Amino acid sequence: MSDIDIAQANEKNEMQPIAQVASAAGLQADEIEQYGPYKAKITFAAQKRLAQKPQGKLVLVTAINPTPAGEGKSTIVVGLGDALRKIGKKAVLALREPSLGPVMGMKGGATGGGYAQVVPMEDINLHFTGDMHALTCAVDTLAALIDNHMQQGNQLNLDPRRISWKRGLDINDRALRNIVIGMGGPYQGVPREDGFDITVASELMAVLCLASDLHDLKERIGRIVIGFSYDRKPVTVAQLGVTGAIAALLKDAAKPNLVQTLEHTPTIIHGGPFANIAHGCNSVLATRAALALGDIAVTEAGFGADLGAEKFMDIKAPVLGKTPDAVVIVATVRALKYNGGVPLKELGTENLAALRAGFANLNRHIDNMQHYGVPVVVAINAFTKDTDAEIKLVQELCAAKGVQAVNTTVWADGSAGGLELAQAVVTATEQPSTFKPLYALDTSLQDKLATIVQNVYGGSKVEFSHQASINLKVIKKNGWDKLPVCVAKTQYSFSDDATKLGAPTDFTIHVSEIVPKLGAGFLVVKTGAILTMPGLPKVPAAQNIDVDDDGVISGLF
Ligand code: ADP
Repeated sequence: MSDIDIAQANEKNEMQPIAQVASAAGLQADEIEQYGPYKAKITFAAQKRLAQKPQGKLVLVTAINPTPAGEGKSTIVVGLGDALRKIGKKAVLALREPSLGPVMGMKGGATGGGYAQVVPMEDINLHFTGDMHALTCAVDTLAALIDNHMQQGNQLNLDPRRISWKRGLDINDRALRNIVIGMGGPYQGVPREDGFDITVASELMAVLCLASDLHDLKERIGRIVIGFSYDRKPVTVAQLGVTGAIAALLKDAAKPNLVQTLEHTPTIIHGGPFANIAHGCNSVLATRAALALGDIAVTEAGFGADLGAEKFMDIKAPVLGKTPDAVVIVATVRALKYNGGVPLKELGTENLAALRAGFANLNRHIDNMQHYGVPVVVAINAFTKDTDAEIKLVQELCAAKGVQAVNTTVWADGSAGGLELAQAVVTATEQPSTFKPLYALDTSLQDKLATIVQNVYGGSKVEFSHQASINLKVIKKNGWDKLPVCVAKTQYSFSDDATKLGAPTDFTIHVSEIVPKLGAGFLVVKTGAILTMPGLPKVPAAQNIDVDDDGVISGLF
C-alpha cells in the first residue's frame, strides 16, 4: 500500500479529535485554536505558560547524505516517537512543514511513510493551516512596498540595482528565477532586475523559525536588510516603516501547529526551511513547545547531517538555548550501497563490498556529530530487500566506532518496529553530553567557513568568486562577519559537486555569493551551482495527484 492509502485507511477510522490529542499532551482546552477537527494551532498564551515549565530531553534526528534510494528521516522520527510512547515515555515530536515545491516536484511530502506517518497527511502536505501562504504573502507584500517606495519619490535613496529582497512563491518555478519588473513607462514602477526564491528559502521563513516570540519576530523583521542606497548604505524593513504590517501578516503563521501520528503521538509541525538553501530546522517555538510538553522531544533537521544537523547545532541551538541530548543518524543499507557505487537498479541485491565502501559516508557523519560532544545512535531504516548479512555489517562497522546501530522497521510495523531504537535513544540521552560548538562566532567569516569545510565536509580549500569577494567586503565593512554561517550547498555530497558520493576528500568549495540575512541572523554562503528557486523535474509528482468527486485526494505518494 502507498503512504496515502495507509494514511487514509487510518484517518477514516482512528484519528482522534485534536482537542483530545492536545489534552493528552498537557494543553488546556483554551490553549488551542482548531482548524477543523484534526488540526490546531497552539496559542501565544499557551506558549507563555509552557515557557515556565521544565524542559524534557532533546533528540535530534539527522541522516547520511540523501540518495535517490531514499533515507526516511521523517519516517524514523515518527516511528521513534510512537515507540518512545510505547515504552512509557511522554514523547512529543517537532517536525517541519512540507513545501509544495517537493510535493508537486519530486521529493514527496514531509509526513513520514508507511505505518509511521503524521495525519491528516493530505492536508499537511497541501495547504495545512495556511502558514506557507501567509509567508509567501508577507514576502511579496514587502517586495511590493519596496517597489512602491522607489516609485513614490524614493526617500531612502534606494538603489534599484541593489535590492536584495526577492519575491517568493512556494512552488518550483525556474522561469521566475531572474525577471525584469516595472516595464511599461513611468506609471508602472521603477524598472529593475528582480527574481523569486522559493518561500522556504526566503529570509522570512528563517525569521519565523528562529523567533522566540512575537516581539522577537518583529525585531527580526525590522532588522532585515532589503537592499542598499545609492551611497551604499544598508536599508532595513524598519527604515521602510512596515515592520508591523509584515509581522501582522504572520500573526497566525507564528503559532505552532498541532497534529498527531497514526498512533496519536502529539506532533508539532511548524516552519519548513530547506536545509540545502536555508537553515533546515523547524521553528524554535515548536521545539520549545515539544520540550515543555514532553519528557522527550524528537525533532529533525533536513537532508544530511552536513547541512541540517550542522545548522541545527551552530544556528538553531544557540537561539533555542538547548543542545541535543542525543543525535540519531538515519541510514539505509540501500543508500550506503549507492554511496559505494551501486547503481539504483541493483540496490536490491546483496553487496557487502559496496556497503563497506559506502559506509564511509555514514562514518564521517558519525565523526562529525560526535565532534559536538553529543551521544550518537544510528537508526538503520529497514527496507524489505536488506539482507541479514548487510544489516549485521553496518552494525559491526558502527560498533567498531562505539556506536549502536539499531535495525528499525517502523515503516512496516509502526511503533512495534522501533522499540529497540527507542530504548537505545533513551539510554543515549542519559549519557553525559558535553556540547561544544564547531566554531567561535567572533572569528571571521572565512575562518568559520574554513572550519565547516575542513571539519564537517572533509574538504581542503574555499574559493571565492569575484562576486563573493565583493559581498565579503560589504559584510566586513558593515560589521556583519561575526554572524553564524548558513551554507547553501547540494545535499547529495559533502562537497559542492552532487556527483561526489561517499566521503570525498581534498576538494575545494566554490563560493558564488554571500547574502547577509540580518533578520535571521546569519550569512548565507552560496556554493557550487545551488539555486534558491528549484526547478521541476521532467516528470513532476503533480502528474500523479488527483482529487475525486468526493474530495478524496490520491497519488500524493
Ligand atoms: P526523508 O525525511 O529522509 O525525506 P521520508 O521519511 O519523508 O524521508 O521518506 C521518504 C519516502 O520514503 C516516503 O514515501 C516513505 O514512505 C518512503 N520510505 C521511508 N522508509 C521506508 C522503508 N523502510 N521502506 C520503504 N519505503 C520507505
